[in-house]
Amino acid sequence: MTRRRLLAASATLPAAPALAQTARQPASEVDVIVIGAGAAGIAAARRLTAAGRSVIVLEAKAQAGGRCIVDTVNFGMPMDLGAHWIHAPADNPVVPLARAAGFTLYDDPDRPRLMIKGRSPREGEWETFAAALVRAQRAIIEAGEAGREIPLSAAMPTNLRDWAATIDFLKGAWDSGKETSEISCVDFYNAIETRDLFCRQGYGAILAKLAEGLPIRLSTPVTKVDWSGRGVTVETPAGALRARAVIVTVSTAVLASGTIRFTPALPKRQADAVAALTCGTYEHLIVRLAGNPLDAKPDEPLVVKADTTATAKPLARIGGSDWWYLDIGGRFARDLAAAGETAMKAFAAEFVGNEFGPQARRALGEIHVTSWSTDPFIRGAWSVAGPGATPQRLRLAEPVGQRLLIAGEATDEGLWGTVGGAFASGERAAEQALRWIAPAAQGRRR
Ligand SMILES: Cc1cc2nc3c(=O)[nH]c(=O)nc-3n(C[C@H](O)[C@H](O)[C@H](O)COP(=O)(O)OP(=O)(O)OC[C@H]3O[C@@H](n4cnc5c(N)ncnc54)[C@H](O)[C@@H]3O)c2cc1C
Repeated sequence: MTRRRLLAASATLPAAPALAQTARQPASEVDVIVIGAGAAGIAAARRLTAAGRSVIVLEAKAQAGGRCIVDTVNFGMPMDLGAHWIHAPADNPVVPLARAAGFTLYDDPDRPRLMIKGRSPREGEWETFAAALVRAQRAIIEAGEAGREIPLSAAMPTNLRDWAATIDFLKGAWDSGKETSEISCVDFYNAIETRDLFCRQGYGAILAKLAEGLPIRLSTPVTKVDWSGRGVTVETPAGALRARAVIVTVSTAVLASGTIRFTPALPKRQADAVAALTCGTYEHLIVRLAGNPLDAKPDEPLVVKADTTATAKPLARIGGSDWWYLDIGGRFARDLAAAGETAMKAFAAEFVGNEFGPQARRALGEIHVTSWSTDPFIRGAWSVAGPGATPQRLRLAEPVGQRLLIAGEATDEGLWGTVGGAFASGERAAEQALRWIAPAAQGRRR
């Protein structure tokens, strides 16, 4: 965890109430233990506490929110360090809760501005790009709709000419954090795509609000889940806890890493699903461009014509500020993040100079970078199914032995890889746990 995230944690979260509440837990036996306080864990805990059940959420980090956190310290404005686009608002269970809590949601401007080596497109260039993008998208969707478990790269037209690398980047590294050769057309097709929203206060602020008052034990990494007998025993460096059921919400990359030992091991169906639903890489390079040198609109998305997937996707003037995302993904992002912060910042500066021109290069100020892929409690961006792996999402979520449930973004068919999908999966897991532990006592919905 970076110092920046620690600072953000202290600024955004009601850590004291959460800890105080856990201190009041009478014993180490509860109805349900939730592992992880990201969107899925928060949703599960809200549902369980609303039903009057005792629950403890064990979170490895010093802050709740998981891959959806906001930094309110270092940018002079709320800056999302993970999720930022509020996908599929009509199907996203976080949206009505955010509105009810008074958050300001507004439309993503959607239509991107095209830049070609520091200049605006000439006549016809936008149309050529848009036509190529539509052809690629259509081919992928048709393959997915037909249930063809082939990679995006196999479905995409081969005659995209000088737009091929740009579109390959957009559909692979940027959309999914992986190469187009690693993504199933069916998984891609299943993803619900509508116009996104942004939150003025930050997507992470919504999750922080929804986590308020929940019995979350921060800085408590789980090392072992023993489900060999009746109920479960969960071990942490602070001691063992017992419960009637456990909901595990850590990323598939964390599950695959083996840092949480399961006794007995996860059943083959779940273990195979974990192995199949690997996480891609997606990082924000966050740069300040003073004085709006490109005359960009607030929250304007840009597409930069590229001849390689080692490129970035800019989001201009976040919330109307001088801060821009230059988002990187896929193999390039994984290697750059592994090379470290200095290399990431050097790429960001080079990108600004090469793609936006000398005036923008002169306007470049501070650069911040995220490092989700090297974070031991995240280890990637979000899960992506390769060809043949799409059915694994539902298998991963199958209840085990009336006491073990896996939730999280990887288990949602339509909103995989999103905060909304993770939240919905947490609610579903909580409903299942309630059926196990309290068949006759379903509580009010929060
Ligand atoms: C850079 C980036 C950009 C993204 N952009 C978007 C976007 O714009 N829109 C969108 O909808 N989604 C986006 N996503 C994806 C989205 O953030 C995730 O799908 C979602 O937040 C996952 O929630 P989760 O609850 O499934 O998992 P997580 O958020 O990963 O929560 C799991 C929690 O478990 C904790 N944990 C791990 N190991 C242990 C352990 N041993 N013991 C206890 N706790 C543990 C972790 O610290 C974490 O808090 C983005 C992700 C990244 C990384």
